[in-house]
Amino acid sequence: MIEKLVCVNCGAEYFPQSADAPNVWMTCPTCGPAEGILDFRYDLEAVRDSWLDKPLSKREHNHWRYAELLPLKETSLRTDWQVGWTPIVDAERLATELDLERVLLKDEGRNPSASFKDRASSVGVAHAMEVGANAIACASTGNAATSLACHAALAGIEANIFVPHTAPEPKLAQLLVFGARVFSVEGSYDQAYQLCSSACEQFGWYNRNCAINPVLVEGKKTAGLEIAEQVAAYGGVPDWVAVSIGDGCTIAGIWKGLSEMHALGMIDRLPRLLGVQAKEVAPIPYALEHGVLPEPGEGTTMADSIDVQVPRNWRKAVNALDSAHGRVVCVSDEQILAAIRLAGRHGVFAEPAAAAALAGVVEAVDAKIIEPHESVLVMITGSGLKDIRSSIRAGGEPLSIKPDLTSVEAAVENAM
Ligand SMILES: *Cc1c(COP(=O)(O)O)cnc(C)c1O
Ligand SMILES: [Zn+2]
Repeated sequence: MIEKLVCVNCGAEYFPQSADAPNVWMTCPTCGPAEGILDFRYDLEAVRDSWLDKPLSKREHNHWRYAELLPLKETSLRTDWQVGWTPIVDAERLATELDLERVLLKDEGRNPSASFKDRASSVGVAHAMEVGANAIACASTGNAATSLACHAALAGIEANIFVPHTAPEPKLAQLLVFGARVFSVEGSYDQAYQLCSSACEQFGWYNRNCAINPVLVEGKKTAGLEIAEQVAAYGGVPDWVAVSIGDGCTIAGIWKGLSEMHALGMIDRLPRLLGVQAKEVAPIPYALEHGVLPEPGEGTTMADSIDVQVPRNWRKAVNALDSAHGRVVCVSDEQILAAIRLAGRHGVFAEPAAAAALAGVVEAVDAKIIEPHESVLVMITGSGLKDIRSSIRAGGEPLSIKPDLTSVEAAVENAM
């Protein structure tokens, strides 16, 4: 139930129903592809009526339940792809440890390719099919690509993937097993990104890159829509939602979803956002303060999914943080390793970029940004199986023993 597309740069409005619109869904023609990012707006009255008519409570537990808030024709929805409605773990012991009212871990690792990115890729691939694309492409530090390859395989269309040669092996393995054509670029993510954009133009591939394709954000948004519904069972809207930031599209998308649910009257208040970055790769705090990006730094982080020195969607992320009275904290790789263990001790297996959000919560509690007795929902954006080396680093060594009970006994005593 799209009403219009609005250019986030110049404010120009485009109406999909009008005659000149069919080509206007990527970027604003006036502002160009670098600045003219478009944003979908919906007829919320009509959405509300439709939800009264067909209540959410009677719908299937996946993200297609929000059909009216997706930029897809009803016939393009792929309800057979099980994406979203990921479980929430109520980590009570952790809340007690941190002196918080509640700590909720939303386990996005339980999506089809084991990360949050499946939300965007599933909607992107469904849209690519709607517009008749026969190939789709993206540049990614890993998860956007693996989720795209997964959904391209489900759809039976070709996927072209540009990854920096530093991508963790499990993510590469996923790509290759899903049958994507993988270009391992001897260069940075930024270079892989530019190359992908040029290739899309040259070969006419559908471009899955979030920064320029507004359809993808709509997929990411579903996490915010879902949080609004799910938290009803956990004391209502939490004081904070913590999300790690790479390009900035995830946090912006989640905020959009939460805001739409608020505008629809589904929740009575909005949470604050806690953005989390790696200490060595932290352009967002600077952008938040100065309104421009800093010169790209040289540092890196083990959290490959947020190892982004030049975030593509920093403006959207900054806008979201501003309107959410948000704060940003930065965490070291050591803190991330500790948070991998912490999440694990509460039954959630997190990759480094996902654990970073939890590390950020611990940091924010220490810094008194999050106050005692507040409640937090932490987005665990990807599974620990995504980066098994880091998981092993975080987990430590098993007890090595001889195959007899005495050895077990000795080891148990030793370990105590
Ligand atoms: C992509 C990703 C993020 C960050 O999302 P951005 O949109 O780049 O800010 C965080 N965690 C995981 C696991 C990711 O794959
Ligand atoms: Zn514009």
